Amino acid sequence: MSPTVFVDTDASADTSSQQRPTVFVDRDGTLNVDQVHGVSIEGLELRPGAAQAMRAWRDAGWRIVVITNQSGIARGKYTELEMHRFHEALQASLGVTFDALYFCPHLPDAGCACRKPAPGMLLQAAREHGIDLRASFMVGDSWLDVEAAEAVGARSVLVPSKPDTLSKRAKRPDHVAEDLAAAAEWMLSQSPAAR
Ligand SMILES: [Mg+2]
Ligand SMILES: [Zn+2]
Repeated sequence: MSPTVFVDTDASADTSSQQRPTVFVDRDGTLNVDQVHGVSIEGLELRPGAAQAMRAWRDAGWRIVVITNQSGIARGKYTELEMHRFHEALQASLGVTFDALYFCPHLPDAGCACRKPAPGMLLQAAREHGIDLRASFMVGDSWLDVEAAEAVGARSVLVPSKPDTLSKRAKRPDHVAEDLAAAAEWMLSQSPAAR
């Protein structure tokens, strides 16, 4: 099993600023409308409040790290290159450059350490960027995101994208927000991030 593939868009900016709060953000259903194993740029549609949240975190100097399960790669639905092109379009659409992005390309039953709810991608990001996970937040639309956050002691915020998300969750998130803008507002109100 290959390790988590890692794309760092701006590593140099992180080395001297380890005290920056970090928000880990899920992609599908959180930043963009979930295409269900698709990365069509024509089909790219932002979720409500996503661009606003990005601006709020940027303005506050937060580190933005995307953490995303992309089993569509192992399923042969799209290539890594097509996914990277989608991420370029996503960042342009959001008006922000991610500090880093980690993705798991494996199938759900592959037994890898990176696919959420496993915390492998969060742990790798923490190692590579000197991030204090217990002072960080993870936001997503699925219980997978909540469990990954809980596994490393990060605070979790659920932004449900489907009516049944809340009933499916195995554990309680620290906060539930209507959309990503409201999630960002709540996180910023919790500053300083350190508990
Ligand atoms: Mg999601
Ligand atoms: Zn994986």
